[in-house]
Amino acid sequence: MGKNISFDVAALVLLAILLCSCYARKMTSGISNRIFLIITYISIAATVFDIAAVTLDNAHSANTIALYTAHSGYIVTHYLSAPLHLLFVISLTDTWHKLHKNKGFIVVLLVPFLAVMYAIAANAANQCLFSVENGYARGPWFGLMYVTTLFYIVIDVVYVIHYRRFFSPGKIVAIATVIPVGLAAMVVQMLFPHLLVEMFCGALCLLIISIGVQRPEDYIDSFTQLMKYSAYVDDMKRAYGNRKKVTVIMLNIGNYLSLLQMIGFDAVTGLLQDIAQRIREIDHLMKGEGDLYYLDNGRYRMVYYWKNRDKAEKIAQALNEELKRQTALNGMEISLEPFIVVAKCPEEVENFKMLSFFGTDFHKKYQYTGNVMRADDLYNKQQLDIQKNIDAIIERAIAEQSFQVYYQPIYSVAQRRFMSAEALIRLNDPQHGFISPEALIVAAEQNGTIHQIGAFVFEKVCQFIAGEEFAKLGLDYIEVNLSVSQIMNSNLPEVYLAIMDKYHVSPDKINLEITETAAAHSQKVMTENLDKLTKAGISFSLDDYGTGYSNIKRVIQLPLKIIKLDKSFADERNNPKMWIFLSNTVKMLKDMNMEIVVEGVETEEMASAFSDMNCDFIQGYFFSKPIPQNDFVEFIKKNANIA
Ligand code: C2E
Ligand code: MG
Ligand code: MG
Repeated sequence: MGKNISFDVAALVLLAILLCSCYARKMTSGISNRIFLIITYISIAATVFDIAAVTLDNAHSANTIALYTAHSGYIVTHYLSAPLHLLFVISLTDTWHKLHKNKGFIVVLLVPFLAVMYAIAANAANQCLFSVENGYARGPWFGLMYVTTLFYIVIDVVYVIHYRRFFSPGKIVAIATVIPVGLAAMVVQMLFPHLLVEMFCGALCLLIISIGVQRPEDYIDSFTQLMKYSAYVDDMKRAYGNRKKVTVIMLNIGNYLSLLQMIGFDAVTGLLQDIAQRIREIDHLMKGEGDLYYLDNGRYRMVYYWKNRDKAEKIAQALNEELKRQTALNGMEISLEPFIVVAKCPEEVENFKMLSFFGTDFHKKYQYTGNVMRADDLYNKQQLDIQKNIDAIIERAIAEQSFQVYYQPIYSVAQRRFMSAEALIRLNDPQHGFISPEALIVAAEQNGTIHQIGAFVFEKVCQFIAGEEFAKLGLDYIEVNLSVSQIMNSNLPEVYLAIMDKYHVSPDKINLEITETAAAHSQKVMTENLDKLTKAGISFSLDDYGTGYSNIKRVIQLPLKIIKLDKSFADERNNPKMWIFLSNTVKMLKDMNMEIVVEGVETEEMASAFSDMNCDFIQGYFFSKPIPQNDFVEFIKKNANIA
């Protein structure tokens, strides 16, 4: 019976569709995509050779040259798919650099391939693989093809198992499905030799891999056509997992959010696409061959592997110069704030978690200088560790009640004595050491524990005020900080008044500080809270005055007793214009019957300058840093009259 080429024709159709889909889905760049394309082309060639060979066989052709060419063409191309498949799997695990170092392994991989190539070349003379003289017939060496193919399949499987952490379960299933499909093809081929299903099953396997493994929609961002965040995560995790040395250029557009507000989503999308294009061009021009990613919110990454790793800094410089130039968009001139940090990994940032944590918002934490920065100069592992673990740190501190309340004395210029103090939270974590109150409060606001922490601090303050010692100190009141979300919480008056009740603390002993940012909100709950607490007899201060964007009308409406000039003003003694502004601000506020505290006064000179300006109170390291309650009591006793 003649052999049936229907399956081969079906395979050809399938492979052609697959090839078109590779180009349509832009799966053409990157090493694994390129290998996949080569496998597809080779499979097409093998199928064509197979059809030609079978057609000649069926026709009992006497043209031995044509027969020999068709059969040897089929054998070579068909055989190539096994080692190529192995290369494809290696490229998926991104372990080329390991292969390069392991010459022995390369030899082991090459020997079977070279042996088969030799057998094919020698076949012309010895016909040990096959002959076509009296119709196509296999020779004694033909088994070599099966043995070596099996060898590559085994290495494939071992590779996938060894590097399974780099594959999602879906990918492993897709890669593993190839094995039963391949085996089924072999069985059918043995039982029904005339059916020729081998190429069809091969095409089917490629289709499965294309659908299950090569998924551009998982990897390509449709706006920028760069690779997506998920690809960046996969690739970088693999790079770190393989201890592969890479240089990462991290570009965060620092003014992304304000651009979004200013020019809107559509225009920003256009801008992001334009930046992506410029990144591509620079990388191409400088022959960087980097992997280019767009993460989200104006954040781009360019990753350079071994051979172009050192080029990355030059590329970063070029990119910086390019992006700093103004961009024309819809008739507007847009200035970007391209915040670029170059990180050598893993030397400078030890794991991917830290890299991604650091990369998220370095543009918010550091001053924009306009120059390319190096991760080595910015990255502070200890600081980042704290930020990363801050939720757990807070949880532990709440559970173990390890927060402490320190007091910083506040000096009255008129009375020439310490008349009040500010309560400030302190946390010494057993693992991470001193935790900055600012970081602590921001995190507590985000994770909702601020209410518990605030109540804890307030209770400690009330306990202190209610204690015997306090009465002897002659202090008028203690200032306690309230954060934005505390003031926005409708339970606040109830909770705080209940604590004061519990310790019989008179409301005139308490002054609550709200920040300028909070004061600028005209939220109903906040207004009600301030009303209730003011009616209960508690006074308020406006903290950090001069740092936020205060809504002056709103600030004037608030029931404020004290305005605290932010500590940044304390350094302005030698700035004549600022000094005029400050003097007039102080005068204006005092005309409105408000009292003025200056924060952050560190020297005697500053203290006397602000006294001369008629500020009522002075707070700062010049007198004392915030200190524990016992030290504070001692301090006040010792300095009862320091005039
Ligand atoms: P703040 O309320 O403006 O507190 C003043 C900050 O200035 C304190 O920082 C204090 O240690 C620091 N300071 C005082 N004098 C000087 C000085 O002469 N020079 C300098 N350089 N700094 C000085 P701290 O304790 O780190 O607190 C930072 C912020 O954390 C506070 O700013 C406040 O907003 C917040 N915070 C602290 N404790 C609490 C709390 O119990 N509850 C809430 N909601 N926020 C708190
Ligand atoms: Mg304060
Ligand atoms: Mg302040």
